[in-house]
Amino acid sequence: MPKRLSISAYRDGVLSGDRVTLARAITLIESRLDSDQELAEELLAQLMPHTGGSMRVGISGVPGVGKSTFIDALGTYLTEEKKQKLAVLAIDPSSGLSRGSILGDKTRMARLSVNPMAFIRPSASGGTLGGVAARTRESVLLCEAAGYDWVIVETVGVGQSETVVREMVDFFLLLMLAGAGDELQGIKRGIMEICDGLFINKADGENERAAKRAAADYSSALHLFREQESGWIPKVGTVSSIEGKGIDEVCEVLEQYRRQTTSNGFFDQNRTRQETGWLEDMIEEALLRDFSRFRQQDPAWGRILDQLGNSVIPVRTAYRQAMEAIRARK
Ligand code: GDP
Repeated sequence: MPKRLSISAYRDGVLSGDRVTLARAITLIESRLDSDQELAEELLAQLMPHTGGSMRVGISGVPGVGKSTFIDALGTYLTEEKKQKLAVLAIDPSSGLSRGSILGDKTRMARLSVNPMAFIRPSASGGTLGGVAARTRESVLLCEAAGYDWVIVETVGVGQSETVVREMVDFFLLLMLAGAGDELQGIKRGIMEICDGLFINKADGENERAAKRAAADYSSALHLFREQESGWIPKVGTVSSIEGKGIDEVCEVLEQYRRQTTSNGFFDQNRTRQETGWLEDMIEEALLRDFSRFRQQDPAWGRILDQLGNSVIPVRTAYRQAMEAIRARK
């Protein structure tokens, strides 16, 4: 049994911005123990009035594009120039398989990892992408309660993880490289359509011209897409994360987005829409889980299938019996 704090110790520690308690609170919400789940729910309920205050930014791109270098540079800029606090969370779709996630690894963000205004948390491992996403969404809330002005959610550009991250952030930023084919970067049209900002990284040295050209190409391609519901036109630019070039412009884009979508009402509407979506997803997952347990464990399922197979009952009767049996469980 892991050692737990009292609810007030978690709450007060998080609210005071104590990073050690914040980390322990995230561990608590990640736990699958029933007793921890109860404590986590109570903690989140108590912290609710203190959440929502950050700008949530999703960052995606293929491995090697420079995500951690970029986040290190952006975070250093935000903390040093703007005197704002930044938390970095990660969603690693492969972590369920490999267990050892590298995303969000402290050694990948050399400056941020020793910056007292920054908090870095590696990806929760294990479970489905949906499960990891649910825990990350709650971690975002904990970081907000701890007073972080920016919460970055990093993900690798593979599989479904971008769509999942898109649904938990205000702004979705895609990092790309010049010269690497779109296919190679795992970028399908769909992913470009969901981004609010697309930046070509490694725009330095000999690569700078190619990066500028790629940015111009993407910029014209993005104009072909229909206007986003937010009224925002996705911004395209170049950065050199290593040299810190263009980082201030990225920051300006993020702030401009917040100003514009706050004043037209989209910012809050989007968060409400996202929350409704999370709730619906969670209910759907739970219902599917109930059905799959019924199928695996309940002898009634075998009986229904037998009767169906022997043409004793029609499908609609089998359906009604199964639904009644599922609802009667527990
Ligand atoms: P990630 O896998 O997306 O997190 O990528 P990393 O941040 O680990 O960067 C991958 C490699 O690209 C590292 O060797 C970085 O030093 C290098 N890199 C990252 N950003 C830049 C940049 O702006 N310019 C150059 N020239 N190299 C970069």
